[in-house]
Formats: sequence, C-alpha cells, structure tokens
Amino acid sequence: MKKITIIGGGISGLVARYDLSKRFPNTDIQLYEKTERLGGVIDTLQAPFFFERGPRTLQAGRSPELLQLIEELGLQKELIPSSPKAKKRYIYHEKKLCSLGKMMWTFLPAFLKEWRQPYPWEGDESIASFATRRLGKEVAETLFDPMALGIYGGDIHHLSISACFPALKAMEKEHGSLTKAVFKRKKKKHAKGLLTLKGGLQTLITRLTEEGKGEIHLGKAVDTFPEGQTILAVPVRQAARFFQGDLEAMQFFEALPSASLTVVHLAFEKGVQVPHGFGYLVPTKEEEDVLGVVFDSEIFPQQSRHKEMRLTVMLRQGGEEEALSVVRRHLGIDQPPAMVHSTVYLDAIPQYGVDHLKRVAAFEAYLEKHYPQVTCIGNYLKGVSLNACVKLSRGLKYKKSNAESSCTPPSEKRGVHREQPPCQPGSYRT
Ligand SMILES: Cc1cc2nc3c(=O)[nH]c(=O)nc-3n(C[C@H](O)[C@H](O)[C@H](O)COP(=O)(O)OP(=O)(O)OC[C@H]3O[C@@H](n4cnc5c(N)ncnc54)[C@H](O)[C@@H]3O)c2cc1C
Repeated sequence: MKKITIIGGGISGLVARYDLSKRFPNTDIQLYEKTERLGGVIDTLQAPFFFERGPRTLQAGRSPELLQLIEELGLQKELIPSSPKAKKRYIYHEKKLCSLGKMMWTFLPAFLKEWRQPYPWEGDESIASFATRRLGKEVAETLFDPMALGIYGGDIHHLSISACFPALKAMEKEHGSLTKAVFKRKKKKHAKGLLTLKGGLQTLITRLTEEGKGEIHLGKAVDTFPEGQTILAVPVRQAARFFQGDLEAMQFFEALPSASLTVVHLAFEKGVQVPHGFGYLVPTKEEEDVLGVVFDSEIFPQQSRHKEMRLTVMLRQGGEEEALSVVRRHLGIDQPPAMVHSTVYLDAIPQYGVDHLKRVAAFEAYLEKHYPQVTCIGNYLKGVSLNACVKLSRGLKYKKSNAESSCTPPSEKRGVHREQPPCQPGSYRT
C-alpha cells in the first residue's frame, strides 16, 4: 500500500491529511504530532470565559479557501460575523487612543499627493521603503508600522511588502497608485468584516480530524525524514532541524527569523467599559512593550458567557503584570480581572524579509530536485494567515505514483555533509 507520512498536527498538517485521504483513499496516511493535542497554535479556551488563545478571526473577503473548507466540512452554520461596532479601530498615538478613521483625515494630504507619485519600483522592497516612498515617513510610522506589528509582530524596515502585503504592491502595479486603486476597486463587491466559528476555531480542528482519514500518533515527535513521501508541516524553526548539515537548504532558513510574543487574556466582570471597536495597535515610536489590545467581547459578543469584558493584550515582552499595567494606563481599567491567562508563543511568526518570495521559489526548486520525497507546508512559505496555510496544504501537487517513490538522500547525489541521513526508517521518537 502507498504511504504518506505527515509531520505536524496543526491546521496545515490536518488539512493535508483531510485532502489527501479524500483524493487518494487507498493510501496509508500516518500523521505524527509532537504534543498530546491537535491544532497547533489553534486552541480555544471555553471556560471560565471564552478565549481564542491563538488565532481568532478570518477576513470574510480574503479567505476563499478557508471558507470553502468550512463549507465542505458542514460548518457554515457555525460561522458568526463580527459586530458592526468592530469596524472601528484605534491607534495608540501620542499617549492616547485615536480613531483610525479620524487619523486618515489627518493624513489626507499625503493620500492626495500619493495619487501623483511615480512608481518606478519593480522589485521587492521593505514595507517602510514602500510606504515612505508612496505616502511619507509619518504615514509609514503611524499606520504601516502598527499594521505590520498587528499581523507579523515585526519591523517594517525588515519585512517585505511583496510577501507581507502583496495586495498593496499589486494595487500600485495595476493602478499606479493606492488611492486610485481604492476608488476603482469600490465598484467590485467584496464581503466585508471578520468571521469566526461560534464554538471557536477548535471546532474546525475537531471536524477536520473526524473527516480526514489516516492514523494519528499523538505525543510523537519526528526528528528526521522517514522513508517514503513526507509532508513536513511543522513551524519554521523545527523544519530547519530536518535540514541540518545541508548548507544550501540552511541558507533559506537562516534568512527567515521568527518573532515571539506573549498573549495575555483578561476577563473583567460587567461594568468595565472600553471604547466600541475592534481594539488598538501601538506604533513602535510609542516605545511600549505592547503591540496591541484586542476587544474580544466587542468583536464577537456572541461568545460572551455573561456581560463580561474580554480583552487580549499582545506583548513583545513581559507577562500578566505588564498586561494589567497596559490596560490601566491606556484604558483606565484598574478593577482586578476575574480571569488572567497568558501564553508565550516562541518563534511563532515568520518574518518575511525583502525578497522572501524569491527565496521560497529557489527553496522549492531545491526541494524538488534534492528532496523529491519531501513537501514543506506551513506559515513560513506563502502567508501566515489561516487561509494561506489552508491554501498551501490543499494545493499539494501529489501524484498517485509519488506516494511510493523511493527516498534518495540528497547527500549521496550532491556530496553535501549531513549529520544524519534524511531517510531513516523507524526514526519516530515517542
Ligand atoms: C497568537 C497568534 C494569533 C494569530 N491570529 C491569527 C488570526 O486571527 N487569523 C489568522 O488567519 N491567522 C492568525 N495567526 C496565524 C495562524 O494561526 C498560523 O499561521 C497557523 O495556525 C499555523 O498553522 P500550522 O499548522 O502551519 O502551524 P502550527 O499551528 O504551529 O502547528 C505545527 C504543529 O507541528 C507540531 N510539531 C512541531 N515539531 C514537531 C515534530 N518534530 N514532530 C511532530 N510534530 C511537531 C507542533 O506541536 C504543532 O502542533 C495567528 C498566530 C498566532 C501565533
């Protein structure tokens, strides 16, 4: 029987298992997950208050692959929209919360000038370079910097515009200006707002696990490539370990740092108020350890148990004390919380530097040539969002005949030094 091994039981690995077991029902699929639970960073906390410890939302108009999957799994009735109040967003600017809508008016002259800016830039560049070139330094530091922090927890001087915000680069390329593109794009109808699943994103993990076929081995880390077709669905730092000793492959991983963050959930009994809205982001120039605060109960009140106020504080560093200090200083909340819960995400968000997409293309070509039995998926290649992970996992170009192809160590073909051969039958570790 043909065999495929999947390493990693986050959404990337589970979608691959689901998809491949549907396409190749006669293939023996084995999934290995290091921890005792499935879902990776997706982890819904149900009690005493509802919180998503990891990802929480998908963008209605920008998640076609994920929405298609949700429909296939019969979960569309579980989808809930964000409250209209959550449309309002804030920036912590000069030590106070400012509505993003109002700030856009302040930047109107920059946007009007942007219309006429030339666009000679063909290749990739940093977000800072793109935003400064089009809209000036102040807009770059006040709007683009917190936007990049909110998604990537990273530095706009390092992150690539083409890899992190490809839509913006495409707007410039297609219309010659972001402002022109916004006016032209208004004609097209896009679904707006955010969505989630009422019972939490863990519901998606449970249903994916039930609907996919193939044995699942929990609490089993895999350290080296097993024999036969393998799908590597682990985070970037762990993926790099599989290529130790292969200097060429390691160049790709060395150019790809990741950001760590601490997420602190706070629940307050009724009575505590915050401004209506999604939450706020904090630009680097404010010199704070906090990246932003999400007003969970304002976005999805359907997930509240009572009338509690649920907040998530995202920190570069620090923990519960720092989170409480942030909500006291920024939001005037000095009531003790009914619940505090924190999670540290180490190296969780890959930082796509300038020319990341070129490096990915070269890495994929290298894999195809020297590791024909291995396919890498996950958030370090073509997008960090859940939708990007689902799209990549569902796009696997698998041929039936591949499932049995033999595994030839690339070191034999290329003479590279390898501490351990990549094909080691029986290398699973319990
Ligand atoms: C705090 C946070 C908030 C986010 N919010 C959003 C959001 O709101 N919307 C959105 O679209 N995206 C969001 N993202 C991004 C998105 O959640 C992730 O990119 C995505 O879930 C990654 O899934 P994955 O399966 O590729 O990796 P992971 O979820 O990291 O799963 C990888 C799995 O591999 C396992 N593993 C590791 N090493 C081994 C080994 N040697 N052997 C076997 N198993 C191993 C791990 O234990 C883990 O279970 C967020 C990310 C974070 C960290």
